[in-house]
Amino acid sequence: MTLLILKNDNRHFLYRSSFIIGQKSNNAVLCSQSMDSIEHTARLNAIFNTVIDGIITIDEKGVIESVNPAAAKIFGYQPEELVHQKVNLLMPMPHSRDHDDYIENYLTTGLKKIIGIGREVQGKKKDGTEFPFRLSISEADFGHRKIFTGIIHDLTDLRQAEKALEENQNRLSAIFDTAVDGIITIDRQGIMEMINPAAAKMFGYQVSDLVGKNVKTLMPEPHFSRHDGYISNYHKTGVKKIIGIGREVEGKRKDGSTFPINLGVSKVPLGDRVIYTGIIHDISKEKAAQEKVEKLNAELEQRVEERTEKLAEVVNKLLKTNKQLANEIQERKAAQAELEASREQVKTALQKERELSELKSRFVSMASHEFRTPLSTIQSSASLISRYKGEEHDEKREKHVNRIKSAVRNLTGILNDFLSLSRLEEGKINQSPSSFNLVDLAGAVSDELHTILKKDQEIRLHTDQDNLEVYLDRHFLKNVMINLLSNAIKYSDQGKMIDLKLEVGDDIRITVKDEGIGIPETEQHNLFERFFRANNVTNIQGTGLGLNIVKKYVEMMAGKIEFSSQVNIGSTFIVILPKLDPSAP
Ligand code: ADP
Repeated sequence: MTLLILKNDNRHFLYRSSFIIGQKSNNAVLCSQSMDSIEHTARLNAIFNTVIDGIITIDEKGVIESVNPAAAKIFGYQPEELVHQKVNLLMPMPHSRDHDDYIENYLTTGLKKIIGIGREVQGKKKDGTEFPFRLSISEADFGHRKIFTGIIHDLTDLRQAEKALEENQNRLSAIFDTAVDGIITIDRQGIMEMINPAAAKMFGYQVSDLVGKNVKTLMPEPHFSRHDGYISNYHKTGVKKIIGIGREVEGKRKDGSTFPINLGVSKVPLGDRVIYTGIIHDISKEKAAQEKVEKLNAELEQRVEERTEKLAEVVNKLLKTNKQLANEIQERKAAQAELEASREQVKTALQKERELSELKSRFVSMASHEFRTPLSTIQSSASLISRYKGEEHDEKREKHVNRIKSAVRNLTGILNDFLSLSRLEEGKINQSPSSFNLVDLAGAVSDELHTILKKDQEIRLHTDQDNLEVYLDRHFLKNVMINLLSNAIKYSDQGKMIDLKLEVGDDIRITVKDEGIGIPETEQHNLFERFFRANNVTNIQGTGLGLNIVKKYVEMMAGKIEFSSQVNIGSTFIVILPKLDPSAP
């Protein structure tokens, strides 16, 4: 700052008059100043008071003569606190101690150590703190004495800003150097200016290999050949294809191999030019991991598909097997049922066979027993008849002929019974109903049986009317009545009455009641069995087939037979038949 270069003696005045504290004004001198000079002085005064830098003047002894407000403020004083103080007050050690010597040396040797040379020095504030400032000292020689003017420019802020800048730079370069991601800056032409170690390493280079080279060096085809075009296109059109947009691209290493990178490019205005910064993130690992996951996923899907197919196969097989099994089970069941049925058939057949053979054997034993008497009767009567040749033997011959006839009738009866039974059992007999008078049938049967009635036996017919019209199988009914009435005759003594009662109401009832030997109670349950004969009839001829046949006929006519009997009192048999409707088919 050279504003205070003093030209004449008036300057001395200027200093004094401009400061609050100074020597008394000399009015005579003041009045002798020209108006020009006054204005000039006022301007200088204004500058002195308002400049940002501090201004201090000292004399040859180092005593402060004047100090502007900025200087006082820099050192933390009021200006009046400093005037007349020694200037070394504002210096830290050792300068505060040695300052007098500096002046002395200069004044004697004329060797300028600082005067006319700007220098950075340390100042000491009122509170003792030190601070850097730039000091420029000029010297004014008034002939009889010299004054020195110091201009003080506080460097505290600058230093702080410098320090902050340095720190920032250090931080940035640390980041730049140690970043895991690659950072490359290029100029407008694509020439690489800065490459961080990570970027160089990523591409297999040394940093120094790449500085000054075109960035396309790091790109595989087709980008290698096209990159210059990309840049010039961008400059021409301003259309950003990658700037400001992160994108996955291919990088090319020094050895020619390629690898996937995520590239983010930003445009950085730098003073009057522009650079481009690329942040490069190697995504080989991520890519590989992603590919691995994709591969695993694909494999998994494949496996799941295969398994599903296999499962479906197994399920299908199972279903098929199940179906087959179900079919088999069905078939087996059917076969079993058939077997069971055939077994039953076999059982029934066997049963029939057994019954038949039993029937045969019982018939043989019955026949051998029952046939014997009539046959021997026939034999003896026949041999007697051959002896009775004369007319006088007519009566005796007649008697034996009748005996033979009776025995034959007996045998015929037995054979008829047996024939009826076997025909009934074979199902060869069907009923053929017809309308007839039941009373008439009863009369006919009684007449037929008249020959076998014992002495004084009588069949008494009980009926309300002479004509009881019924619609039944006449042959069946006749057989039933003959059997029941002949049993009543056979199993009751001479002179006993036999009652035959006919009733036709809601149903048809035929009752045969005798006064005979009766049926022992313990044997009554076997009464209708084939060949059953009670133990009180052993001396009376019979086959044990009659009642069995009766029951069969009655059942064929949809009726039933009931009985009651007491030994030696008599028996009653009641046949109950439903009325048939002649109009029914
Ligand atoms: P049969 O008379 O030829 O022996 P039935 O089948 O007619 O055969 O009778 C079976 C048996 O029932 C007879 O042997 C007899 O023991 C008994 N019975 C049947 N009717 C009478 C009756 N009216 N009184 C007593 N016993 C009877």
